Amino acid sequence: MNCLGIESTAHTLGIGIANQEDIIANEKDVYKPEEGKGIIPREAAEHHKEVKKEVLKKALKEDEMEKEDIDIIAVANGPGLPPCLLQGVGLARELSKELEIKIVPVNHCIAHIEVAKKETNAEDPLVQYVSGGNTQILSHADGRYRIYGETLDIGIGNAFDKLARSMGLEMPGGPKIMKLAEKSNKYIELPYTVKGMDLSFSGLVTQASKKHEEHEKEHIANSFQETALSMLVEVTERALAHTKKEELLLTGGVALNKRLREMDGKMAEEHEASFHVPQNEYCGDNGAMIAYTGRLYREKAEKEIDIKPRWRTNQYKTNK
Ligand code: AMP
Ligand code: MG
Repeated sequence: MNCLGIESTAHTLGIGIANQEDIIANEKDVYKPEEGKGIIPREAAEHHKEVKKEVLKKALKEDEMEKEDIDIIAVANGPGLPPCLLQGVGLARELSKELEIKIVPVNHCIAHIEVAKKETNAEDPLVQYVSGGNTQILSHADGRYRIYGETLDIGIGNAFDKLARSMGLEMPGGPKIMKLAEKSNKYIELPYTVKGMDLSFSGLVTQASKKHEEHEKEHIANSFQETALSMLVEVTERALAHTKKEELLLTGGVALNKRLREMDGKMAEEHEASFHVPQNEYCGDNGAMIAYTGRLYREKAEKEIDIKPRWRTNQYKTNK
């Protein structure tokens, strides 16, 4: 059973292949906005359109496969940017017709969680899912992932990117803010917004972006990072204390942040929970996570599927 997975929800056009045992291919091409700009959905979609055949070719070649060796197709059909989703779903439809095989609709957020569980062997973790567009704290119960807390406005990765843009730094801005923050120990007071179990990052970015005349970049980066991550870890800690889960699993592109790993690790230890992060390759958006999740949920396969731009993580029925 070979499942080909397609990821196109935002900046990344990724194609991966998973067989019965493992992930056997993971190729991608990432859209880079023009200098000083964020993701422009139409342009990102244009990028995906241009590169998808080449990425497909590379993914098949990685395991010396032909299209005909594919048994089922999986595609992330939501949540995400509609023009981008249409590119992935379009390719899935094309291949489905050509090869006469079915398509498994995969929720992008569930795929981030499933691949991270697989890679780390976490069984029933509290999940901290942090990426460009999404920020959610969840765990699994009765056939669905339940959301304890989430962002009320922008994803935490997006917040890092926006602050970086205000400093003239290109996308992705997250790693650049992290590097700058490593050079500073100074803390500038910034808005800390936790509402119940939910988070808000846009006020924090706006205020941090206004500090450029008074403060050095590294101090702004450090203060922003400490504030944003503390907010996130506070809510996660409350969820961990409440659920008494024995594992904490970090996933999504922002899982590459070293300071977040450090803060999560310490917090988990205080609650006697083990802390897990997948390999870097599976943190940010990738096709392999869609292929693996598609294989896991292959009974959901259909002949025709549509995009679901606002699909929520807790709407996806899981196997158990
Ligand atoms: P994803 O949407 O899951 O592919 O994640 C992409 C997001 O992760 C972008 O917003 C990046 O800026 C962010 N990101 C990647 N590396 C880091 C890092 N080291 N620190 C903070 N954010 C990061
Ligand atoms: Mg993502």
